[in-house]
Amino acid sequence: MKEISVRSSSRFEMIDITEAVRKTAREEKIESGIVLVYTPHTTAAVTINENADPDVPRDLLAALDRAVPLSANYRHTEGNSAAHVKSSMVGASEMVIIENGRLVLGTWQSIFFCEFDGPRSRKVIVKFLT
Ligand code: ZN
Repeated sequence: MKEISVRSSSRFEMIDITEAVRKTAREEKIESGIVLVYTPHTTAAVTINENADPDVPRDLLAALDRAVPLSANYRHTEGNSAAHVKSSMVGASEMVIIENGRLVLGTWQSIFFCEFDGPRSRKVIVKFLT
């Protein structure tokens, strides 16, 4: 198991962590297997989507914000219920295949850490299944 530190700089943010995941796979000399990319937070998520056009992650965050507004008579008193809901909608993890020492991702795919209640210091856990 490896840990990747992530520092978000705004309340909502999608941070590309593909290179960090690739680096850990290289360090562990993984030739073939699966990597589980998991975040142990209740107001963040991990997803795979396009990073070639920065408008895609921007649109994603905007769409999630429209679907789950910041205030909507939530009962949770911390004031971050929308972040908890988005975290469950997007999910805490992704799995990626590793073959011939490379992450099997599509041309436009990147692995994103999704911040829904930043800015904060966060962590992403990476576990290789070989
Ligand atoms: Zn909360």
